[in-house]
Amino acid sequence: MSLQAEPSYVFAPVVPSLPVVGSLERFPVRRVYCVGRNYAEHAREMGHDPAREPPFFFMKTPDALLGSGGVFPYPPASSDVHHEIELVVAIGQGGRDIAVDAALGHVWGYAVGLDLTRRDLQAQAKKLGRPWEVGKAFDAAAPCSALVPAQGVALAPSAAIWLEVNGASRQRGKLGDMIWSVPEIIAHLSCLFRLEAGDLIFSGTPAGVGPVQRGDCLRGGVDGVGVLDISVGA
Ligand code: MN
Repeated sequence: MSLQAEPSYVFAPVVPSLPVVGSLERFPVRRVYCVGRNYAEHAREMGHDPAREPPFFFMKTPDALLGSGGVFPYPPASSDVHHEIELVVAIGQGGRDIAVDAALGHVWGYAVGLDLTRRDLQAQAKKLGRPWEVGKAFDAAAPCSALVPAQGVALAPSAAIWLEVNGASRQRGKLGDMIWSVPEIIAHLSCLFRLEAGDLIFSGTPAGVGPVQRGDCLRGGVDGVGVLDISVGA
């Protein structure tokens, strides 16, 4: 074997990535973290007490990203796929044990995402004490809009986070309703994993989650960040 400047691969590697608003460059995605139950009303609708316990995390796979305008193929093995509209935080500078007051300095940008969930399989996993991947990390389970660089975004507590299905309002909250703020999420997560450039964090969903049906059109947004549109395949 000889040393090569460029490694060669047995097949072409695929780099998961997101478009960037106003740029031809794409943002390469390394990991996709998600925060559970980060809005009190949603915790209640899922049967939990939203007392301020430490945030908890799970992951999706980067290949599960689906760009805005895409068609979400209704997945197998479920008849209860739920929408969860979420603010997505993109990390641009890595670190571990990040302090709350330094956390925003690690943020590259923001996007609007959907944490699509096979609720029936998630409920079964919870009941049996099994992992959540079958409920959360299936194919195309992470639709996400283009990223907006952080310097162009001022996240106001009053900013609305919302989702419409076929033009009807299904979820509506405001960023100030988050139990754990974006800097607090980054601080907690960075004590569990070293964060790196390319990591995404889905920051939790407001109340109003519910099922999607084949043929539905989903339109969601975070005011000041952007809008995400997807349709559900037939
Ligand atoms: Mn979620």
